[in-house]
Amino acid sequence: MGKPTGFMEIARAENPYRSEAARLHDFEDLHIHQPADARRAQASRCMNCGVPFCQSDFGCPLHNLIPEWNDLLYRGREREALARLLQTAPFPEFTGRVCPALCEKACNLENAGSFAYGKAIPDKAGDGDGSNQSFEARHLALTNRDNELYLIETGFEKGWIQPRIPRIRTGRRVAVVGSGPSGLACADLLNRLGHEVTIIERADRAGGLLMYGIPNMKLPKSVVERSIKLMEAEGVRFLLNAEADASIMDEYDAVALCGGAKKPRALNVAGIFAVDYLTAATKAVLSGDEPLISAKDRHVVVVGGGDTGNDCVGTVLRQGCASVVQLEMMPAPPVERLPGNPWPEWPRTLRTDYGQLEAIHRQGGDPRIYETTVRRLLPDAIETVKLRGFDPIPGTEQTLPCDLMLIAAGFVGCETATAERFDVRLNKRGCMMPDDGGHHLRGNLFSAGDMRTGQSLVVRALADGRAAAVEIDRYLRE
Ligand SMILES: Cc1cc2nc3c(=O)[nH]c(=O)nc-3n(C[C@H](O)[C@H](O)[C@H](O)COP(=O)(O)OP(=O)(O)OC[C@H]3O[C@@H](n4cnc5c(N)ncnc54)[C@H](O)[C@@H]3O)c2cc1C
Ligand code: SF4
Repeated sequence: MGKPTGFMEIARAENPYRSEAARLHDFEDLHIHQPADARRAQASRCMNCGVPFCQSDFGCPLHNLIPEWNDLLYRGREREALARLLQTAPFPEFTGRVCPALCEKACNLENAGSFAYGKAIPDKAGDGDGSNQSFEARHLALTNRDNELYLIETGFEKGWIQPRIPRIRTGRRVAVVGSGPSGLACADLLNRLGHEVTIIERADRAGGLLMYGIPNMKLPKSVVERSIKLMEAEGVRFLLNAEADASIMDEYDAVALCGGAKKPRALNVAGIFAVDYLTAATKAVLSGDEPLISAKDRHVVVVGGGDTGNDCVGTVLRQGCASVVQLEMMPAPPVERLPGNPWPEWPRTLRTDYGQLEAIHRQGGDPRIYETTVRRLLPDAIETVKLRGFDPIPGTEQTLPCDLMLIAAGFVGCETATAERFDVRLNKRGCMMPDDGGHHLRGNLFSAGDMRTGQSLVVRALADGRAAAVEIDRYLRE
């Protein structure tokens, strides 16, 4: 169970960010990765609770065996810890970088920590380094995400990760449409179960939003490519620049539609959709060319205050924008949990993410403007208006300089073209969710990931891809 007194002696310490001043000059990894000693000390804080909420439905969607691998890591048995992690986690190299760590918010220590925060316990020594914090202030969640990343990267470094080629092949052929996390997880499990898997991807590189969506500084593209190469060595085929249509239902024994849910919510005014902008930015990082859409020297307005908007803020700052603001229709979330949002639920509280921190560093203030939307485009500017609920408040109009407007206002389901081609009826959320809530659409056709559930998280897409693989395997063996 880690060290019995670990959580009382050792303060939580995440992999820190590089300083804003340093990281704004490049698209390299945001984080400084800590060495073995630091990670083992962090793992020692796990209490192996009687009811480990980190593994429950409130916590990790993959139900990772968190207390088990934290204990092994604390004892320096990294290889065994990694083997435990890989029992349930198909790609810890992705989740260890981009997962919002639902497990950490559901950790029992987070619960204790939220009481400590409530009492605002000061650092007694007043030096701000946390080393003299009072007992209660140390009750803060484990750093599972960083621990998991350390384990998988140690595995790659030490050569423990080698292609695992199935010894027996079933002779059944499966096509997976889309190479995002759900498609990769679905293909990976089906391949391990001995089926012959082909991934059909329309983009020029595999990875879905892992490749063209999440920016390089959050998830370096070399990491995505390393995982794809490993899958290829294990026998998964990738057909890139290929558009899937219904004829593959005759060619293959089963088809999994994992095409994502990238249909953007449109606004009353024209702008560039965030994913199109972020895709062009990543292509430029990978090729070394100028981006097709550049923010250099431009006044940028990002419409949408969420995570995608934050990625846009971080990217336009790196491209050298003249200024950036982020408009959000909703009011600012509370700083503390409200009574209706208790632990172990995900806290719906104010977060200031890396892009916003960078904007504060560069511009001297938070780029977010709440309860505000764009009303109309003007030459080199936009007119904004304050909102009460969804209604504009007359007389609150303002003009903001704008020569690049990025729309990050959310997603409204999957592309209708793919649904039409495969003759699948979309539900009210614009997704391919079968009526029974499973993954089986009809005949030999299945769906998974965002295409089934709507825009979600990498870890949920991975879990959904694996769940679909189990259903497909059952169907193929019937
Ligand atoms: C900008 C952005 C940043 C994000 N950041 C995070 C984050 O930090 N952490 C996190 O947990 N989640 C994040 N998310 C959400 C996360 O990326 C998605 O939930 C996840 O990628 C969904 O995986 P998926 O496999 O279902 O679909 P996708 O990743 O969207 O992949 C679908 C793939 O299918 C392909 N495809 C579609 N139709 C066809 C067809 N007919 N033929 C061939 N190929 C086709 C597409 O080209 C695409 O490559 C982010 C999302 C966005 C938009
Ligand atoms: S995948 Fe996410 S929720 Fe699961 S253990 Fe890792 S960080 Fe936690």
